[in-house]
Amino acid sequence: MQKDPEYYIQGVLDSNRLMLSRTITLIESSLPVHQDMVRGIIDRLLPHTGKAIRLGITGVPGAGKSTYIDSFGALLTELGHRVAVLAIDPSSTRSGGSILGDKTRMLNLSVNDRAFIRPSPSGGTLGGVARKTRETMLVCEAAGFDVIIIETVGVGQSETTVSSMVDFFLVLMIAGAGDELQGIKKGVLEVADAIVINKADGDNKRRAELARRQYETALHLLTPGSKDWSPPVLTCSALKQTGLEEIWEMIGQHRSVMLTNGEHQQRRKQQALDWMHFLLSEGLKNWFYSHPEIARELPDLTRDINNQKISPAAAASQLLLNLKT
Ligand code: GDP
Repeated sequence: MQKDPEYYIQGVLDSNRLMLSRTITLIESSLPVHQDMVRGIIDRLLPHTGKAIRLGITGVPGAGKSTYIDSFGALLTELGHRVAVLAIDPSSTRSGGSILGDKTRMLNLSVNDRAFIRPSPSGGTLGGVARKTRETMLVCEAAGFDVIIIETVGVGQSETTVSSMVDFFLVLMIAGAGDELQGIKKGVLEVADAIVINKADGDNKRRAELARRQYETALHLLTPGSKDWSPPVLTCSALKQTGLEEIWEMIGQHRSVMLTNGEHQQRRKQQALDWMHFLLSEGLKNWFYSHPEIARELPDLTRDINNQKISPAAAASQLLLNLKT
């Protein structure tokens, strides 16, 4: 491994794919020395970031996320964009399921030299995985990618994490999977900037239209996040590649509304602040647990809680008080 941050910085700014991959590998490393270096690299790259359109896409497994990103990403490259596909899937290593952002799931994009695909960083907490993906997004922007797509599964907490780092959050659904909301929690619909009913092809077309109207009604019951944007519900077929241009137009419309009313800038600023606070609380937690005093006391207190000699609240405040003195 090269020790000179300049080597990575230059490589990324030159849009060198190998150097981009190497920098991301550094980001994914948990070695403190690598993490230090990453901080320096990102600080230097920061002035070259922020201009891309950041898109989040979620949906339950089988909704067609990878097919959609493959077709949609290809369309965007035809329109002259450079597209990076990243993913947040904290469960991928545990479940052994599909690793989001996997190249073998996106056959068109994986051989497209205007696209860059990176699977979800594996292992660790959602927070850790999110940090790596966020840093990877910045590095991709510095390397000249002007559309960043972040994929996640519509189960668990990762959708809200993704929605808090993108400009536009798209929820992909399918018609007639039984339960109307397909296990997608209400909270996800609340942060959706649009819903797209996929697989609107063949015999399924009519059902997709029906589902579109149902979701439109469901969304009407929610208060939109912006006074200038009511999340629309569209249909498409990722497989037949229909309806995709309309979705891209809708995203462009959203962008121009948000840039005009200042909400885009506000959203980015808020995200940056939230991110700082997130890193702060992660850092404090790490610092706390690695403190020698805490490391020494924790096993005894754990035992005392197990034996019901002390309440969890009393144990926690004892640990915190010890640090203060
Ligand atoms: P993911 O788990 O959300 O990434 O879903 P996939 O992209 O792997 O798609 C799941 C299945 O649905 C695959 O068999 C796809 O071929 C199929 N599929 C995806 N999009 C469409 C579509 O627009 N129409 C139809 N008919 N099938 C689709």
